[in-house]
Amino acid sequence: MNIPVKNCSSCGACANVCAHGAITMMLSKEGFYRPVVDPSKCVKCGLCEKKCPWENDVFNPNGSSKAPKTVAAYVLNEDIRLQSSSGGVFTILAENVLDDGGVVVGVAQLSSTRFGHIVVDNKADLAKLRGSKYVQAESGTIYRDVRALLKAGKRVLFSGTPCQVAALYAVLGNQANSANLFTVDVVCHGVSSVKVFENYIKELEREKSAMVLKTYFRDKSKGWRLFSMTSSLKMPAGNRESFSQTLHEDTFMRLFLRNLCLNKSCVACRYGKIPRIADVTLGDYWNIAEIHPEMDDDKGTSVVLLNTAHGEFLFNSISKGLVLCESSLEKAVAGNPCIVRSIRPHRNRAMFFENLNKYTLEELIQKCDGNLPLHWRFYYMVRGCLGRVKLRITNRLRK
Ligand SMILES: Cc1cc2nc3c(=O)[nH]c(=O)nc-3n(C[C@H](O)[C@H](O)[C@H](O)COP(=O)(O)OP(=O)(O)OC[C@H]3O[C@@H](n4cnc5c(N)ncnc54)[C@H](O)[C@@H]3O)c2cc1C
Repeated sequence: MNIPVKNCSSCGACANVCAHGAITMMLSKEGFYRPVVDPSKCVKCGLCEKKCPWENDVFNPNGSSKAPKTVAAYVLNEDIRLQSSSGGVFTILAENVLDDGGVVVGVAQLSSTRFGHIVVDNKADLAKLRGSKYVQAESGTIYRDVRALLKAGKRVLFSGTPCQVAALYAVLGNQANSANLFTVDVVCHGVSSVKVFENYIKELEREKSAMVLKTYFRDKSKGWRLFSMTSSLKMPAGNRESFSQTLHEDTFMRLFLRNLCLNKSCVACRYGKIPRIADVTLGDYWNIAEIHPEMDDDKGTSVVLLNTAHGEFLFNSISKGLVLCESSLEKAVAGNPCIVRSIRPHRNRAMFFENLNKYTLEELIQKCDGNLPLHWRFYYMVRGCLGRVKLRITNRLRK
């Protein structure tokens, strides 16, 4: 397949439409899923290129509005709110679909370093989808699975990044306007490389002499704004511990937020803009304290865009479990530009990936991100040195 690498969002639409099983999504050198064609199976029908959402425009079949109704909201249930990345609106939408006998499709952590779309048919399993995982998710056969579910008459709520929602519509074709299908996209800053996350976990395991079981990317123990990356560790003695660092301290989160480890296509995202591709868009209402101060207690408030009448219908049926107030697109965008446009590329992205396996991630931040204020550079330099000394001592003691 001839999609230029900078344009492949790794959505996996091509692999899902290939009737000959000729396309496998494999991790590239940088750690993003890319289609690899088996020439012995490929019949050159061209369907993969015809369905590629990066090569062809895909639209929401319900007709997305250029001025979506915009709401600030959070879920009343405090446990759910604290386990969710923003205001927990996703869980309430999902529960509503499950109550109607439907299923929910979203991204779960599959292993310590892998993430992918799964189908959930009960409320207990919704916990697997809750919370953002800032790493590229494997699509597997998910779009085909949704097609089969719709064919069987199931109501389906599909959630993912904008490019994944576009991929679903591209794969479904005529079936995309099914009244049983609802889509949710997240306001997406971009997705990180799987290999970068693998290196992060390896470094953490070495530093702690432990096994990482699970990672929470948006732990709100210190607040929604000062969120933490928290990993649950299995220690050599068999006991469990957790390791937590705020977004300003954690190496992976700093790489992610500075756009160093994102997929190339994320800087020219075709679907993360107005009109949005999904029926409903969910994100963080970061400037809520200035716009609707009564909705802010630093536990997380969502910005909800109702892009289609279909999405508005779904949202109106759940408003009971929420605290909400009407807002406006302009106000939300002022605090969250990713609603309408892609992020800027980091000038040293190429340098970062070229050196990925030569240095630790902390060393790579020092090399590639020269804009840090002096006191932060000093802090990270000392931290990096201490980390290396500790590693050497641990290795010597092990011998
Ligand atoms: C990669 C990524 C980047 C994001 N960037 C921004 C941003 O810049 N600004 C902003 O306002 N919001 C961003 N978000 C969205 C935000 O973090 C919340 O996911 C969103 O507001 C929904 O929160 P919630 O509290 O309603 O529910 P939550 O329970 O927190 O939401 C979980 C939802 O996220 C989906 N999800 C989780 N991980 C992934 C993944 N790897 N790929 C695809 N879907 C996933 C799940 O399927 C589920 O639908 C991003 C999310 C992701 C996954």
